[in-house]
Amino acid sequence: MREKIVAGNWKMNTTPAQGVELLKGVAAGMNEVCDCVTMVVAPPFTHLSMVAEAAKGTNIHVSAQNCAAEAKGAYTGEVSAHMIASLGVEYVILGHSERREYYGETSETLNKKMVQAYENNLIPIYCIGEKLEERKSGTHFDVVRQQVEEVVFNLSADQFAKLVIAYEPVWAIGTGKTATADQAQEIHAYIRGVLAEKFGEAANDIAILYGGSANPGNAAELFSKPDVDGGLIGDASLKPDDFIAVAQGFGKC
Ligand code: PEP
Repeated sequence: MREKIVAGNWKMNTTPAQGVELLKGVAAGMNEVCDCVTMVVAPPFTHLSMVAEAAKGTNIHVSAQNCAAEAKGAYTGEVSAHMIASLGVEYVILGHSERREYYGETSETLNKKMVQAYENNLIPIYCIGEKLEERKSGTHFDVVRQQVEEVVFNLSADQFAKLVIAYEPVWAIGTGKTATADQAQEIHAYIRGVLAEKFGEAANDIAILYGGSANPGNAAELFSKPDVDGGLIGDASLKPDDFIAVAQGFGKC
């Protein structure tokens, strides 16, 4: 069975102390979440170490929000995948639309980041998704296909087996507008089909998360769809009760 994952992207929010409190709040609610759900939090770099430490002994996994495209050296302000992995962090979000849009991340950069992630045994949560005008003009399928082909198709079968994909329509991120569950299912199934063109049956084992204003009110419907394997959650991951309630969208085991 495919893994179910609920990952919280804290973005540039919380101080280190607040981050540790948030982690503790989520940990306190974990007994309300089905054991079948893998819970992940992605704090800012400044508190990765403290949150990773606080997460020890809980079932919560920790992710970075980004990593450098290079291994080490004269790259002021960058944080390498090796540094991240050395903290006991297991995941890294790559290709978030905010990084593509505000920091000019291209497929070329993301291919390098993927290499770094895998060399350091980090599991990439690779984000793809179309902008509003692309959805309106009906090119959203082509956009996600290109984002998959230009990066994911360069992975080996072994690397692919560890990948997590997050489909995040840009028009739904932080806007309060959510894709309907049917829209999410339609494009998740399409993405899985594209993955299968290259990786065959293995595409059925890859978790494809939905991201974009997912919240306690819509998570259950989104997660009820066969190709929606969880969520990448922004705003609603900043309050422990909301984040736990989103994960409860999978119901009880
Ligand atoms: C995100 O940034 O990954 C995200 C899904 O944000 P939000 O849930 O706030 O739309």
